[in-house]
Amino acid sequence: SEPVLEIRNLNVGYGLGDQAVRAVRDVNLTLHRGEVLGLAGESGSGKSTLAYGLTRLLPPPGVITGGQVIYHPADGPAYDVLGLSDRELREFRWNETAIVFQGAMNSLNPVHKISTQLTDVLRAHEPTMSEHSRNARAREMLKLVGIAADRMDAYPHQLSGGMRQRVMIGMALILQPQVVIMDEPTTALDVVMQRQILRQLIELRERLGFSVIFITHDLSLLVEFSNKIAIMYGGRIVEEAPASAIYRDSLHPYSAGLLGSFPALRGPRRELTGIPGSPPDLKGMPTGCSFHPRCPKAFDPCASNIPVLGRPDTPDGSTRSVACWLHPTAQPVGL
Ligand code: ATP
Ligand code: SF4
Ligand code: MG
Repeated sequence: SEPVLEIRNLNVGYGLGDQAVRAVRDVNLTLHRGEVLGLAGESGSGKSTLAYGLTRLLPPPGVITGGQVIYHPADGPAYDVLGLSDRELREFRWNETAIVFQGAMNSLNPVHKISTQLTDVLRAHEPTMSEHSRNARAREMLKLVGIAADRMDAYPHQLSGGMRQRVMIGMALILQPQVVIMDEPTTALDVVMQRQILRQLIELRERLGFSVIFITHDLSLLVEFSNKIAIMYGGRIVEEAPASAIYRDSLHPYSAGLLGSFPALRGPRRELTGIPGSPPDLKGMPTGCSFHPRCPKAFDPCASNIPVLGRPDTPDGSTRSVACWLHPTAQPVGL
């Protein structure tokens, strides 16, 4: 299908000059319409920085130091999100791409009813909509995310964590964005609840037709809900593939370490902690492949040359990319 978001050579840092930390490095990634892209990697690998960078919500001292984020609206020509004015950006964020942050469920306003918080979004962004239509839309949205009618006028503290999370998702969806980014949407919730909420989001995606970027530490959820998985290490995408392919047969030794020993699709919850050694220090990155000090398959070129994300020939013809010297036939992605 067609692309909705194309991230090209994106670089994001914290601070400038010698002290700068390069948290996202030369990232190339395409999200297609209707797709669920799962993004995984150890803590500090740059997942949130990538999500905030592409929506331009980076907290200071975060800066985008290069690249493009090409967005394809449902109608009209594609444009670079990094070139939008502040005013255009505010529109873009709610109407085109919505983000549900890590810990967002605690960011609801405690003094307003949840139904009011949804109608406020509509009031700000659809000023011509009637009061009646706003209320109807807000209630319909809350119903869609599974909030019972008798809870719609509750205050946030009267709701469980799971319900507050559903409200946040409802708020993110209310202007019918094409892209929804979930940054570890449910880590504070129990597994059953996480799965329920995600299943519901995926059903809504089928009905409303948006695409999802889904960031998680939880491998079972990642494999269960993603169509495509991208693995980050040290700020770079090191592998990207259809979920079934990467799970069956990872090409990058880091993905293999994360996913290879993963027991079963619906097995017990497992965090991404299965690899010996620690994540790289972004201020003193190893030379060459940043994974080489931990890689069981490291060989000659690995310590001196950085492998570029590229497309190897796959026996099953699937489109996948990897950045590893074990797959030198790769055609570079994004050049
Ligand atoms: P987690 O899984 O823990 O959420 P992540 O993959 O989302 O991790 P990021 O939060 O994107 O990782 O952080 C990437 C790197 O950027 C980390 O090394 C982190 O220390 C650094 N970083 C993040 N925020 C800042 C900041 N405000 N100032 C300086 N460095 C930062
Ligand atoms: Fe391991 Fe070398 Fe591949 Fe890096 S490039 S993952 S060190 S084999
Ligand atoms: Mg994060």
